[in-house]
Amino acid sequence: MKVNFLTISILVSTLIISCKGNKEEQKNSFISPLVSNRDTTINPADDFFNYANGGWFKRNPIPESETTNGIFLAVKDSVNNVVRIICEKAAKEKSAVVGSNTQKIGDFFYSASDTLNIEKDGLSSLEKYINDIDKLSKKEEIAGLLASLTRIATGPFFGIYVGRDEKNSSLNSVSIYQGGIGLPDREYYFGTDVRTKSIREKYKNHLLRFMSLSFPNEKDSLKSSQNIYSIEEKLANVSRKLEDLRDPYKNYNKMSFDALQKSTPNFDWKTFLSGINLTNVDSVIVGQPEFIIGFNAILKNSSIDEIKNYLKFHLIGSYAEFLNKKIKDQDFYFYETVLSGTQTQKPIWKQAVEQTNKSLGELIGQEYVKDYLPANTKEKFKEIGDNIIAVFKEHLLALDWMSEETKKKALVKLSTINMKLGYPDKWKDYSKLEVSRKSYCLNVINANVWAFEDMIKKYGKPVDRTEWNMTPQTYNAYYDPTLNEFVIPGCNIIVPGYQGMPPDAVLYGIIGGGTFGHEITHGFDDQGSQFDEKGNLNNWWTKEDREKFTSKTKLLVEQYNGYTVLDSLHVNGAATLGENIADLGGCIMGYEAFKKTKDGKADKGECGFTPDQEYFLGFAYGWMVQRRSENLAKQIMTDVHSPAMFRINGPMSNMPEFYKAFDVKPENKMYRDEKIRVKIW
Ligand SMILES: [Zn+2]
Repeated sequence: MKVNFLTISILVSTLIISCKGNKEEQKNSFISPLVSNRDTTINPADDFFNYANGGWFKRNPIPESETTNGIFLAVKDSVNNVVRIICEKAAKEKSAVVGSNTQKIGDFFYSASDTLNIEKDGLSSLEKYINDIDKLSKKEEIAGLLASLTRIATGPFFGIYVGRDEKNSSLNSVSIYQGGIGLPDREYYFGTDVRTKSIREKYKNHLLRFMSLSFPNEKDSLKSSQNIYSIEEKLANVSRKLEDLRDPYKNYNKMSFDALQKSTPNFDWKTFLSGINLTNVDSVIVGQPEFIIGFNAILKNSSIDEIKNYLKFHLIGSYAEFLNKKIKDQDFYFYETVLSGTQTQKPIWKQAVEQTNKSLGELIGQEYVKDYLPANTKEKFKEIGDNIIAVFKEHLLALDWMSEETKKKALVKLSTINMKLGYPDKWKDYSKLEVSRKSYCLNVINANVWAFEDMIKKYGKPVDRTEWNMTPQTYNAYYDPTLNEFVIPGCNIIVPGYQGMPPDAVLYGIIGGGTFGHEITHGFDDQGSQFDEKGNLNNWWTKEDREKFTSKTKLLVEQYNGYTVLDSLHVNGAATLGENIADLGGCIMGYEAFKKTKDGKADKGECGFTPDQEYFLGFAYGWMVQRRSENLAKQIMTDVHSPAMFRINGPMSNMPEFYKAFDVKPENKMYRDEKIRVKIW
């Protein structure tokens, strides 16, 4: 029977009671989040995202100290509470052996909470570096100085990393890429809209204020701030746009060491590389050759004083959060309030917990996994992952637009995807990291140097396939095309609002579709599909198949270009393409895998929903995220992910199963003409 929206909402609201489940649950008056999250004044066929989540948004305004609210914050808060217990317990442990995990966690957390000492400490941990910048007298000395500033993660001018060679993924090589700006993206320097212009003016004021607070004895802070802005603007001018960073071939330019040196005669790469412990480098991969040529011109044409001011700002700015209150507050005002709309800083305990977690990732992870991760997490993940891969395989076999030749290779790639689930089998070695209660800022510097050296030491060594790039307590996941693997950290098992395992519709909506399906599809998105099963940038497609794929993705680019937020800001369809392909694939694969479960096959779902309705509500729950408008604007300009609303409404308005589940008609806003509905995988 087809029911219209009105009957659905009446049906559902009168059926809430039946959703209280068994007697045990009734005592706890359990109401499914799928019921209570909704805003039933909204027609699901017009705006499913706000229909599914709007009730929750109305009841839960964004906390003053946060930029977003929703499922991500709920999970993060629950992880933070656990990490807090781990940290506080470690900090109280008087007999912890120096160098033990407990000592490092306890002392780091203690130093981060010790606001009196932080205030007293001021800039003293950075003094050595400030003096080195002050001593700079000749341009020939810049390379050595940049090496020492790069080691402590202040990111001057450009980024450098050691990682897998995209054309030979069993090798680790050195890559150089664009960077060195203080605003989140190049477009902030050139955008002509009112919002961007206003941010730019506020940034210039921030530079002035920040420099005068950091160097109160400096005579001309205005000039310093102008020097910084001018260098950054020039760097931004030679930087590529977000969407131009997506083509893996265009952003892979292998150069011999000699060719690199020849293209940038004003910078001594040998001194720089040996300063960061990289010797015998015979070639490098340059992401954006025009950027390093631009960097060379900036070095050549700027005065020593201009460069000194630029370096000082990036040094202090990188550590502002760990310095005295005046500097920290100024940094917060610009980066959190102006750029993201956040009103107040988080309580000190939360800041301390989050930074300890960030700096000592896998040390905390080991404790988290031991005591707080549900025992059967890996097994449950494996079951869901296998089911999603099985569905993906069925889809590949049934594709009507791809030739048998390419299909065969796609199937090989799918069957060799490596799943890393829950937490690593082997933990990183933190033995060389020194942590004490003396100085918070110094602890962060040491942790940054440890992480940098951990990365640099891989050069020339075979690729370690056991390594993870995300901690088990991170509520996120990733696909790495150079290893053809995806990583699902343990805490993704958490679904707020359910005690124990949630129903299959929710499990397959959030974890199956939104996480596993999404990550697997990344292996076949506009970027991932250019890498073969071994992780090499190597074309395995026929020309015709590639053209068909591209014409399908073009439709998706157009679909997302048509979405706007805050009245006038358009989603960047080209920059977000990979994520949108993954969202669409994820939503489809999750649905199909759910339909194979007992709940998926049933005639009726819970709470008066049909099983299909339940699945789509479950999927939408996975993106129940609201952002401050400033943060949303920033997301549009800097993030390759579409805003949460379109991660739901985008894929669903391409799925006939959704049209059927919520009776979407041509007059509804989610309706897309069949001719332009996209299905790729
Ligand atoms: Zn993604």
